Amino acid sequence: MKDRLLAGIGALALAGCAGLAEAPVTGVAAGAKTPSAFTRAIHDAVRAERNFADTRDFDFAARGFIATRKEPMITTASGQPVWNLAAFDFLQQATSETVNPSLWRQGQLMAKHGLFQVSDRIWQVRGFDLANITFVKGDQGWIVIDTLGSNETAKAALELANQHLGARPVVAVIYTHSHTDHFGGTAGLVELADVRAGKVQVIAPEGFLEAAVGENVIAGPAMQRRAMYQFGIPLPKGADGLVNAGIGPGLSTGTSSLIPPTREIGATGETLTIDGVKMVFQFTPGTEAPAEMNIHFPDWKIVDMAENANATQHNILTPRGAVVRDAKVWAEGLTEALRLFGDSEILIASHGWPRFGNAEVRDYLGKHRDAYAYLHDQTVRLMNKGLNGDEIAARLKLPPELDREWYDRPYYGSLSFNSRAVYQFYMGWYDANPSNLAPMPPVDTGRRYVAAMGGAARVKQMAREAFDAGEYSWAAELLNHLVMADGDAEAKDLLARSYDQLGWQAEPSTWRNIYLTGAKELREGVGAPRANPASQMAALANLPLGSLMDLLAVRLDPEKAAGQTLKLAFVLSDSDERSYVSIANGVLVHEEILAPEPVDATLTASRADFLGAVFGGQPLPPKITSGAAKLEGSPQALLKLGQWMDAPNPVFPIVTR
Ligand SMILES: [Zn+2]
Repeated sequence: MKDRLLAGIGALALAGCAGLAEAPVTGVAAGAKTPSAFTRAIHDAVRAERNFADTRDFDFAARGFIATRKEPMITTASGQPVWNLAAFDFLQQATSETVNPSLWRQGQLMAKHGLFQVSDRIWQVRGFDLANITFVKGDQGWIVIDTLGSNETAKAALELANQHLGARPVVAVIYTHSHTDHFGGTAGLVELADVRAGKVQVIAPEGFLEAAVGENVIAGPAMQRRAMYQFGIPLPKGADGLVNAGIGPGLSTGTSSLIPPTREIGATGETLTIDGVKMVFQFTPGTEAPAEMNIHFPDWKIVDMAENANATQHNILTPRGAVVRDAKVWAEGLTEALRLFGDSEILIASHGWPRFGNAEVRDYLGKHRDAYAYLHDQTVRLMNKGLNGDEIAARLKLPPELDREWYDRPYYGSLSFNSRAVYQFYMGWYDANPSNLAPMPPVDTGRRYVAAMGGAARVKQMAREAFDAGEYSWAAELLNHLVMADGDAEAKDLLARSYDQLGWQAEPSTWRNIYLTGAKELREGVGAPRANPASQMAALANLPLGSLMDLLAVRLDPEKAAGQTLKLAFVLSDSDERSYVSIANGVLVHEEILAPEPVDATLTASRADFLGAVFGGQPLPPKITSGAAKLEGSPQALLKLGQWMDAPNPVFPIVTR
């Protein structure tokens, strides 16, 4: 009985909670891979319209280069590849006919890798991960700002710095914000014991831990699946596949860590002197991340803008899915930064290359601010005149003074997507048109449209005509209805070829990756889950018990629990957390209190054993036999909980049904 019970608990195991492992590198997908005359014409127009003669970015990105790592492959301890510095060598060629020239340029800049001197006290390692890692030389050791996404890439970056600049201990780590690519590598730099012993300070913006562990948890599986599209994770790296991720070359796939901060910054103007280095902070919550801050070095006139001013237009709403951000607050943070730190001679950031010279810094901050302010204000102006999101997106264009700046180009976020995001921020998805009040699901819509257009053969004919005329978005809309309706192979192939052309045309890396990943999945299917169980469990390790119970609540299958009730108590013996769980009416309600009434079962276990049993599929009986865990009441009750849980699907279909 107990074995069955514990197998039932194993069924709760999370799927696809965190961790995106490296895609197997396969050849380019089958099918015609030739850019059309229409696609080539778009590339020609980009070459004519954009100022490729402006090479300041190449100068800034190359300035101060010292050396890079000799061995291009960075691996885990067991030899699994985490990051390959040579993977983007293909960008050394001048251009590619399957990549928008503007995006190719961004890819070239971001593929530069190695150790770079920024000033006499600051260095950065760039191109070792999606983000940068910054080394500030204190009196005794290194102050590290942002730690990359994997322990392995962070360790490789520190080794490179120590090798060329002399070995120094890491005395402090600063997380500029709560996204994994800025804290995930910390255990590759410092020992947790040294942090606990006070030998290493870890500084972060107020609210960091809650945001870091909580921002992507409840909707984690859906976000991770969609992230595969946004970051092109299934794509091979190359001119036919992944070229760039907009804010960096791509995502590393190593082991992530989260060492909680020992000190929080909660107000603009807070000043710290660490290891002889004076830093003034600007607290900017609710901008690019829920918890974020910029850092000023007043003695050196250098500012670190975190992820608030990037070498690209950023996302107000990330296509992988997230809570929408506030473009107005973002712009206001940049106005304040300009006022507080506008005397800076050098600007560095969490992604991309520095800018040198006060005029450059001011211009960059000001025009970033203006781009987000324009996006916000003009979207709202048009919204208040009655345009819906699609209409605003079709109309909105940055003024020429902003549009021509390479750093306002849409490599990550685009005006089209971001203006819809501003609309969503204020209005939600509904555009007020009664016809759109209750749209049908895509399969039903597809079947009806296909019938209305005269059947599958006619739809394909219309789509081929659109394709031949270079109207790939319209071809995709027609074919999407047909693929959703009956999954016709010929329709899938033509849809994939339409997505190829759209991907090759796209200036945003995100759009390219989304189109090309869609094309690949139309041709080859979705593929196996790529989740990394160790990373999944690491993602849960720091969650409060209440958040873990939130995860169970959104997995309850109401049909399985129909007509039944359950009351359970959970006690984590080592962290002194407890939860009282009650299931009735198809709803799991939890309160983090001592159970106020008799329950069907009480499980008392250490945090690690609880996580292992409930989310890791690990057997509980040995723990109960050994006395490490205790189960009181009905084992059947715990079994029911396991049986009622519905696992998320980490590889749900997107371009098909
Ligand atoms: Zn980042």
